[in-house]
Amino acid sequence: MDELKEDCGIFGIWNNPDAARLTYLGLYSLQHRGQESAGIAISDGSKLYSYKQMGLVNDVFNEHVLSLLHGRHAIGHVRYSTYGSSELRNAQPFAVEYKDGSLAIAHNGNIVNYETIRSRLEAEGSIFQSTMDTEVIVHLIAKSDGQTTHERLASALNELKGAYSIVLLTEKELIAARDPYGFRPLVIGELNGALVFASETCALDLIGARYIRDVLPGEMLVIGENSVRSYMFSTRVTRQSQCVFEHIYFARPDSIIFGKSVYSTRTAMGRILGIESPVEADMVLPIPDSGVPASIGFSQQTGIPFQMALIRNHYVGRTFIQPYQAIRNFNVKVKLNPISGVISGKRIVVIDDSIVRGTTSKTLVKMLRDAGAKEVHMRISSPPIDYSCYYGIDTPTRSELISSSHTVKEIEQFIGADSLKYLSIEGLRSVIGQDADNYCYACFTGDYPEPFELAKRDHQLILFDEGRLHGG
Ligand code: 5GP
Ligand code: MG
Repeated sequence: MDELKEDCGIFGIWNNPDAARLTYLGLYSLQHRGQESAGIAISDGSKLYSYKQMGLVNDVFNEHVLSLLHGRHAIGHVRYSTYGSSELRNAQPFAVEYKDGSLAIAHNGNIVNYETIRSRLEAEGSIFQSTMDTEVIVHLIAKSDGQTTHERLASALNELKGAYSIVLLTEKELIAARDPYGFRPLVIGELNGALVFASETCALDLIGARYIRDVLPGEMLVIGENSVRSYMFSTRVTRQSQCVFEHIYFARPDSIIFGKSVYSTRTAMGRILGIESPVEADMVLPIPDSGVPASIGFSQQTGIPFQMALIRNHYVGRTFIQPYQAIRNFNVKVKLNPISGVISGKRIVVIDDSIVRGTTSKTLVKMLRDAGAKEVHMRISSPPIDYSCYYGIDTPTRSELISSSHTVKEIEQFIGADSLKYLSIEGLRSVIGQDADNYCYACFTGDYPEPFELAKRDHQLILFDEGRLHGG
């Protein structure tokens, strides 16, 4: 089910008079984690206000909207989803009223037993507003007989399987939690006495907050008027399975993820790639932006000069109007253009972080040859992606992953490179270092830490909604 594949960014802040604006800024710096919808929920101590809309953070929020969001405590969310579920009702924070008041929740990850839980709840009479896995959490909270919000949340989370980093806001409390595997990141920061939560530390940097530590796998932090309490809520004992793909591709290079600088791990992946698979060449080119740190590492290791000879247009959105007459390689060209004066007659090593379907690499190799490259050697700073992710990274179905059905030699031929090499799993693990056993590599190995369901719903309600301002 497409809706289950989500990459998202979450943010939370407790006790700051500028909570709405700081959340807006936090989301702005997490925009790379989701470009489809953005939302903020905020509490003034007695009421919750929530606003969400399809679009980029800067399009969704303006002075007027922010001025309506009163309070000192807020959470926010940016969402990316595959098409089909791109509707406002699936935007977050997901805000509801239930018997004990209002609550809003923002979730990053993917609940792999969502279908089972939802079917059970529906059989018991529950009516769902969205097609998001996140909504089951709210139903489970409402049905729980726990005495406090955090007890009800803990009992809900203990029914879930899969990946979740969560921030939850009520009128009186902010709660942050991470699943016991720790698939997705969630950090804690501090700003002038305010506590801050964010998917990545780059959001703390922007607002001037200090990084304290990560929310631990299986930990729940409950922030109230005069207290901060930490609970290890999970009743399951599991190995940690932090997502290695955050380090390879997803997170921003200026973030610290799972306690490690993403820039450092990416340059180290490039250095190891340079040791494992060197090549005689005149220059190293990154495929920007994701291939840049690994290219710097590869260049440092091999001594081959780094050149920025593929230029990216940073204003290309998810869709653009196609020309009537086919321009060769238009889909990649509109985003990336080679500088032929630099490339012509040269032996090139071109580096990207990953190959998914193989179309980007194929088009780029052709573009580099058209620009006069004498040789094009492709180096990939991760192992071949053979398996889909079920824990929150939006990889396509297995059959669309070129590496699931082709050998490296066949992919080399398909993309038309003079040579193609990937980083080895051992090389990747050596970059992560002593923590390597606490990571998930399922997209490379098929060793899934948590079984997943592939159920599909055959009914669907299509709603068109212009969106409206909630609360008041
Ligand atoms: P391909 O053309 O092989 O399907 O795509 C490879 C490119 O997709 C690489 O440049 C890589 O940086 C990028 N990529 C890898 N994972 C993701 C992802 O989860 N989402 C998006 N939008 N791009 C990705
Ligand atoms: Mg890329």
